Amino acid sequence: MRTLSRARRTPQLLALALAASPVFALGGFAAPASAATPPLPVPVPSVELPVGLEPMPPYVAANSCDPVAKPGVVRFAALLQNTYAGTGSSGIVRDCASEASTSEHTQGRAFDWRVSTSNPVQVAQVNALTAWLLAPDKLGNKAANARRLGVMYMIWNKQIFGVYDVAAGWRPYACSGVTACHQDHVHFSMTWAGARGVTSFWTGRVAADDYGPCVAQGQMFAVPTSTPNRVPCPAAGPLPITSPVIAALRLSPATVLAQGSTGPGVVAFQRALGGTAADGQFGSATRGMVLLYERRRYLPVTGTVTSAVRADMISFVSGGMAQIGPVPTPVPPPPVVLPPVVVGKPGPVSPLAPYFKVVLSQGSRGTAVVALQRVLHVGADGDFGPLTRAALVRFQSAHHLPATGATSTATWSALAAVLASTSHVTAPAPVVIHSSGLLQQGASGAAVVALQRALHITADGAFGPVTRAAVIAFQRAHRLTADGVVGPATRAALNL
Ligand SMILES: [Zn+2]
Repeated sequence: MRTLSRARRTPQLLALALAASPVFALGGFAAPASAATPPLPVPVPSVELPVGLEPMPPYVAANSCDPVAKPGVVRFAALLQNTYAGTGSSGIVRDCASEASTSEHTQGRAFDWRVSTSNPVQVAQVNALTAWLLAPDKLGNKAANARRLGVMYMIWNKQIFGVYDVAAGWRPYACSGVTACHQDHVHFSMTWAGARGVTSFWTGRVAADDYGPCVAQGQMFAVPTSTPNRVPCPAAGPLPITSPVIAALRLSPATVLAQGSTGPGVVAFQRALGGTAADGQFGSATRGMVLLYERRRYLPVTGTVTSAVRADMISFVSGGMAQIGPVPTPVPPPPVVLPPVVVGKPGPVSPLAPYFKVVLSQGSRGTAVVALQRVLHVGADGDFGPLTRAALVRFQSAHHLPATGATSTATWSALAAVLASTSHVTAPAPVVIHSSGLLQQGASGAAVVALQRALHITADGAFGPVTRAAVIAFQRAHRLTADGVVGPATRAALNL
């Protein structure tokens, strides 16, 4: 306030400024509390809010190229700009080819609110909004308004807040430069329900979780859909080595595909890529997907399909079982003994769960390093060298984690999420099971994870009805007693 008085020496002007802009009295200026100072506005719903509200949102990563602004994001963007005068929009949609990493902007599911850390008024506006988003409601539900609007996470001034992990609070966000550090905008990523505009802030009715489009078997990207999806996407799993898609990819290993290319070679690559119509036309949409693929796989980002990209794609869609060469040669990875799964919080059990407390950095060795390298797609030699470190730093940056080059629990958790969503990026490893008993519905743990991986279904470590159905189908196909119980014969047929 004193700063302001000095800056505006004319008392009338000061009075005028204060009257017109009550926001000056709040935020970064440590103004004394005063009844004469109205608080900054907060968004007002146009419907009556229900008592209930949305559950804590799941983290659902961008998995498609769908650069169309979603209606809930358009409304959210307007809401912020209408509530806070002088703020603006730095956009909702980013072209898939222009984004530096996978982002909800490529799905029209994120909004960049144009405000600046160097503008005290706007800092106060951001503080008012985020305090309102994260405040508990009358029943003590945390981040109530963020949930009602479907905010999944937000990034501002070198910090990130994940509404899917409220307990972690604002966390440091590794970056360099004003825009990357989010000092000239606040980034908001929305849940699918928020993006579709069906959350309680807009409708007065509590929205169920919506997991968005799912990736099909053997593919990297999901086909966009406007249909809500109430269940988490199953792990897509690799294609069988005999798949015609793999055969087509292997046909002409030296052919380079680029924008403008047409024909069956383009169809084959589009089929493997997923997320777009396989029309044989290598246009800008396909180029965008290829760029995204290259970024996700830590390949040189060229937008063209070179023999290196093709080789990586063949390995990817086959779960590491096929190579680019002329003869299909299964390449079994070295055997891995899964450590016992740590039983902690209920929920899906990740094969990486045993390592969550293990801090790995350059110089580390062993099976935890192998597990890390598999998810990062670097040579899984169990030796944490500079390449592994570089890949880990890229991974951490891409997942809004502190880019330390060392594993933390948060990093492991993000790695586990990636592994679960694209479990076919790692080769299905033969697994040695210690238990020799029967596995049936109700079982859980590492042996179930191994079974599920062998069946190419979601490896959540819990033997439920879906796993049972998959076992029965497998048993039928192998002329075994189809009882849904995994005994010695079924185990042998599964190579377990
Ligand atoms: Zn953004």
